[in-house]
Amino acid sequence: MKVVVLPGDGIGPETMAVTVDVLQTVSDKFGLNLVLMHDIAGHDSLKKHGATVTPALLDKVKNADGLMLGPMATYDFKDEAKGEINPSKFFRKSLDLFANIRPSRTYPGIKTITSPFDLVVVRENTEGFYADRNVESGNSEILVTPDVAISLRRITRDCCERIARSAFQLAMQRRRHLTLVHKHNVLKITDGIFLDACHRVAAEFPEVTVDDIIVDAMMAHVVRAPDRFDVIVTTNMFGDILSDLTAELSGSLGLGGSLNAGLHNAMGQAAHGSAPDIAGQDIANPLSLVTSAAMLLGWHAHRSGNQAYLQASRAIETAITTCIAAGESTRDIGGKLGTHATGQALVKRLQQS
Ligand code: ATP
Repeated sequence: MKVVVLPGDGIGPETMAVTVDVLQTVSDKFGLNLVLMHDIAGHDSLKKHGATVTPALLDKVKNADGLMLGPMATYDFKDEAKGEINPSKFFRKSLDLFANIRPSRTYPGIKTITSPFDLVVVRENTEGFYADRNVESGNSEILVTPDVAISLRRITRDCCERIARSAFQLAMQRRRHLTLVHKHNVLKITDGIFLDACHRVAAEFPEVTVDDIIVDAMMAHVVRAPDRFDVIVTTNMFGDILSDLTAELSGSLGLGGSLNAGLHNAMGQAAHGSAPDIAGQDIANPLSLVTSAAMLLGWHAHRSGNQAYLQASRAIETAITTCIAAGESTRDIGGKLGTHATGQALVKRLQQS
């Protein structure tokens, strides 16, 4: 398996270094022959190539089997004409990575404010309220006058159906319960299409129990009783917000792994941003990116039929759980180790397993 590795900005380089060590360890242990192709995106690429991402990099990624994208300083990238392209959007859109899969679960060893839970947010990735990806050219935020602005949300039946199908397929592999999250009481037309598309796809999955909740009520329900949820499917922005909440409820945003998957490509990417406030201090939690890498290996196992990748993916998850339970983790989840030492602990656990 060939994987392009882009460390990114802020805490990206330090968390990606841990992720690379972990990938190398499972490659040796499970005979995966992983080829890690290191390159740059974000600020480093802007300095070197005049753009945060380049067509040559996209070609490289298209010819690989997967991509690990580090956190990017998206906030700094404002003007595409100056090469300041949002790398995350660029890959999601160019590779049509429509499904953003964001699991969250509690771990023995981390004190949380909720009951134990294990859920997955399935977020649509290619349209919705995201102004940089829902129009063919330009941007769907419009400044009408200096004091009046409009933001457009695009919702299409095709995109709703394909994200719904991904969510139902995932629910079939889990506890067969799917919750649709929407704001149909206000966004009657757009979320009307979303709900209708989900219910149509539901007919293909009669074993899955389906319910739906309005997004604002969902915030209360997920804090009060997260254990009542299994798979949750929703549109782009609702999913982005909800999955940060579920990651934090599980102990820290630094636990939020995610996979961006299309029909032919996939990209592992932490759910959080570049966290400039803690960058370079060896305190960032690398587990979000490591979990994302495990998800990428799991995706490749499914696609290639090679079970060694699934074993490697599960071994990483087990090592994470074991390290957390032993307190071998960063301080955001109650541990005492730095980013680098957490990586060393993970590698040791993997080698011993
Ligand atoms: P960006 O502008 O790139 O989105 P941000 O700091 O605004 O960066 P996040 O990176 O998502 O947004 O961070 C939100 C908060 O969560 C910050 O206080 C950050 O320190 C914390 N955080 C994010 N990721 C981690 C991590 N891996 N480990 C520990 N804390 C984290």
